[in-house]
Amino acid sequence: MTKLKPRPEWTDARRIVVKIGSALLVDRATGRLRATWLNSLGDDVAALAAAGKEVVLVSSGAIALGRHGLGLPKGALELEQSQAAAAVGQISLSAAYREVFAARGLAVAQVLLTLGDTEERRRYLNARRTIDTLIAHKCIAVVNENDTVATTEIRYGDNDRLSARVASMITADCLVLLSDIDGLYTAPPGSRPDAVRLDEVRAITPEIEAMAGDAGSELSRGGMKTKVEAGRIALGSGIHMVIASGKALHPLRQLVEGAPCTWFVASNDPVAARKRWIAGQLVPAGTVHVDAGAEKALLGGKSLLPAGVVRIEGAFGRGDAVVIKSPTGMELGRGLVAYDATEARQIAGKKSGEIAAILGHAGRAELVHRDDMVVGRG
Ligand code: GLU
Repeated sequence: MTKLKPRPEWTDARRIVVKIGSALLVDRATGRLRATWLNSLGDDVAALAAAGKEVVLVSSGAIALGRHGLGLPKGALELEQSQAAAAVGQISLSAAYREVFAARGLAVAQVLLTLGDTEERRRYLNARRTIDTLIAHKCIAVVNENDTVATTEIRYGDNDRLSARVASMITADCLVLLSDIDGLYTAPPGSRPDAVRLDEVRAITPEIEAMAGDAGSELSRGGMKTKVEAGRIALGSGIHMVIASGKALHPLRQLVEGAPCTWFVASNDPVAARKRWIAGQLVPAGTVHVDAGAEKALLGGKSLLPAGVVRIEGAFGRGDAVVIKSPTGMELGRGLVAYDATEARQIAGKKSGEIAAILGHAGRAELVHRDDMVVGRG
């Protein structure tokens, strides 16, 4: 392969999240770990760490390893089967990483997250502090979804989006998605010989979404669709992302040396971390419908006052993320709400000066403060 100049998105990155797909880690035929490959990844990560980069891994493979351990049949698993498989497989997965990194003088930590850990601000801050502390101690955090307790409603379901949320949470500079395909193609490359790989994507347009299709392989849940979703989260957070093939040995070194891939390049607009997090919320807890006057105020950069609220939906708590909708039902923005749903219903349509009398205690004049709000989210 001809050596290309490494891209600045990579060379300038200090904090890097690397997502490793199940298909790379686990041999499809035997259900066993691909030890040689994992060792080559260990070399690459150790080299990055030695160069002063902070690397966090998001690794799939628990279910793929565990289903073999439990002797489960091929094909789709029931939720409880995949939860049980993850419980078994996660041990082998962590043990394998520990062994590989110990041989290279690096400590490893297992971090299992559920959806709420990145979506609820308090838990998000907590998880971020933990990972930051691990990084400060030069420990390689290996993150996965806590599949054993994740149920259908409260799961990411795929590690592509999880890795993007983690990258956003810890304000990484670059997210690498290593999978069995070397980038985003204009059409599914297997079935369409005219498909062309894109070198660079700068925005998730409807055309890009249309290219993503659905297909995933048997071992991994995410297809190109979830990778493009991850791209949306990453770019929305000002983080560069790259989709690269991890099939060959030393996948990160290959990437630096110019292996084919697709870069999702973030613009440099400085967006506050809090607003980024709000913009990337996957599961808002409720909806606040506002009147035309409030719509105008929000679009003009003002806070949302209770007086402009016509209806509240959902059972959110104080500090949760809500969607704000216009009188025509259009999403105006998202924000963190200063009152819980019960209180919000009581003060909806009322003047801020009446809040204390209605609720029996004084609170913020705004239902959603403009600092806690992102208006005009894509
Ligand atoms: N968390 C799952 C596992 O460890 C993988 C999800 C995915 O493949 O994206 O098995």
